[in-house]
Amino acid sequence: MKILVINAGSSSLKYQLFDTADGSVLAKGLCERIGIPGGHVKHTPAGRDTFEEDYKMDSHADGIRRVIELMTTGDTAVIGSMSEIDAVGHRVLHGGAEFSGSVLVTPEVKEAIKRCIPLGPLHNPANLTGILACEEAMGDIPQVAVFDTAFHQTMPDYAYMYAIPYEYYEKYQIRRYGFHGTSHRYVSAKAAEFLGKDIKDLKIVTCHLGNGSSIAAVDGGKCVDTSMGLTPLEGLPMGTRSGNLDPAILEFVMKNEGISDISEMLNILNKKSGMLGISGVSSDFRDLFAARDAGNERAKLALSCFTYSIRKFIGSYAAAMGGLDVVVFTAGVGENNAGIRADSVKGLEFMGVKIDDAKNNTRGTVDVTGEGSRVKVLVIPTDEEFVIASDTEEIVKAL
Ligand code: ADP
Repeated sequence: MKILVINAGSSSLKYQLFDTADGSVLAKGLCERIGIPGGHVKHTPAGRDTFEEDYKMDSHADGIRRVIELMTTGDTAVIGSMSEIDAVGHRVLHGGAEFSGSVLVTPEVKEAIKRCIPLGPLHNPANLTGILACEEAMGDIPQVAVFDTAFHQTMPDYAYMYAIPYEYYEKYQIRRYGFHGTSHRYVSAKAAEFLGKDIKDLKIVTCHLGNGSSIAAVDGGKCVDTSMGLTPLEGLPMGTRSGNLDPAILEFVMKNEGISDISEMLNILNKKSGMLGISGVSSDFRDLFAARDAGNERAKLALSCFTYSIRKFIGSYAAAMGGLDVVVFTAGVGENNAGIRADSVKGLEFMGVKIDDAKNNTRGTVDVTGEGSRVKVLVIPTDEEFVIASDTEEIVKAL
């Protein structure tokens, strides 16, 4: 099947066209500045140069129509016509407690995505816009929604509950949901496959470390805990996000800095904190390593805070599962940064976790387990778009 995978943002739209017969990507690209001046489209047909143009888009549907033109005509074409596309798969950020798996988009599903807007106010409206844009531009082609939260729906209540008045859970569904679920699901399954084991027999901690980072405890193939919460702000300190902190800090900072607007405070926690906040250098881990190596003490401190937090999560999730068989590293930092991996498991030798420095310095899907380590340590590149295409194919095939 040919499946178009869409990740729609408020003014952007990323896409990949998959041929699921061999899992190949036929084309991928990006529409930027939709609905605002300076519209721009980038389209890369597999094995050919990237085509770029300034292109005004009043709506996401304009973007989709242009992408389809590029995919079907001239030098940028990869298919003969739109009718060759069998289905569209969408990344949707927040499925609340409504979705524990991927679903075919129906009027009821669209309503449910709308109901989750208060939980994902930045992303869900954009994700829904992407779905409506495909309806407008592509007619009644089957569409599937794949939720970032779905994989974490198996968490037990004591893992997802916050210790605040219960009525807030009842009235507003305030609880831990977790994110990057598609990635945690994919890499935990791949880990079992790589080791030639049944995932039902494994206790896995998956570390998705990118600009945004989260860790999940996957016991027998099911998520039992994860570090992100109601929103992606909780958990590890990230590129620009604070992660966990004492909630009383908000009032303290607001009073002392004369901040009267809570949204300004949250903007500081989301955009000016984390690695950027501590180091004052950058949110990008490559810059942080360069600064640390040049003697910058705050960059060193930021990186130490990051790996210390990862180590604590691995330890606590081993406790939560009553054991640990595999640690998986994935995403931009987890896949590419050997130093972060090594520092994250340093000190966990007592739990049987050891990394091999030579193996750790390689790339791709690799077993970096150290000699005598009881726990396997793996690096597995994530591929959320591929999972969205596979889920979409499975659902559409069953129609
Ligand atoms: P996102 O959360 O936006 O999907 P990514 O998973 O792409 O982010 O991760 C981005 C981070 O990965 C950046 O901080 C970047 O420094 C880091 N990164 C990407 N490639 C490399 C690399 N080759 N070496 C070290 N770090 C890398």
